[in-house]
Amino acid sequence: MPKRKRKPRNADASDVNGEDNVVLYETAPLQLRYYGDPVLRKRAKPVAKITDAELQLAEQMLMTLEATGNGIGLAATQVGVLKRLIIVNIGEVDDEVYEPLVLFNPEILSSEGEIVAEEGCLSIPDVTADVKRPEQIVVEGINVERQSIRIEADGLLARVLLHEIDHLNGVLFIDRISGLKRRLLSDELLRLQQAQRPS
Ligand SMILES: [Zn+2]
Repeated sequence: MPKRKRKPRNADASDVNGEDNVVLYETAPLQLRYYGDPVLRKRAKPVAKITDAELQLAEQMLMTLEATGNGIGLAATQVGVLKRLIIVNIGEVDDEVYEPLVLFNPEILSSEGEIVAEEGCLSIPDVTADVKRPEQIVVEGINVERQSIRIEADGLLARVLLHEIDHLNGVLFIDRISGLKRRLLSDELLRLQQAQRPS
């Protein structure tokens, strides 16, 4: 029996036609950084100029997010790059399909209301908690066409944007939960920190 040819890890996600010719860049998904890695606590620097390198990084981050199978957002910090760049791909929510979003130098212009919802993070596997965040926000940033765009967001989109912008400031969602809940999670967090995967 012939051996089955091994496909790259991201093939199932990007290979819509069942063919092996869908390759955007000759790159693999990037290595995710996990809780306990000091890079997650650093503040990312603004992107002064969006060159091909930044665009390729964004493309690789989209690929990395897709490879996770369940991720909906990623900050450059989470792949060890301290540049102010986030990507969001929430897919379909309430019958509305959202295109993947790439934002350089995102800034929160305004926020309103408060809402609690459950959150998780690709960098903190298997940990979820209720997090209180603003309900509606206006965010400004630069897209892949190097144009300044303004996004009015609520619901899941607002939450993901806020979560990812937090990453650029070295802030994790567990920093925003109550002391009691955090104490309950402390064993789990310690375990993650000790088991920190090589990067
Ligand atoms: Zn996260």
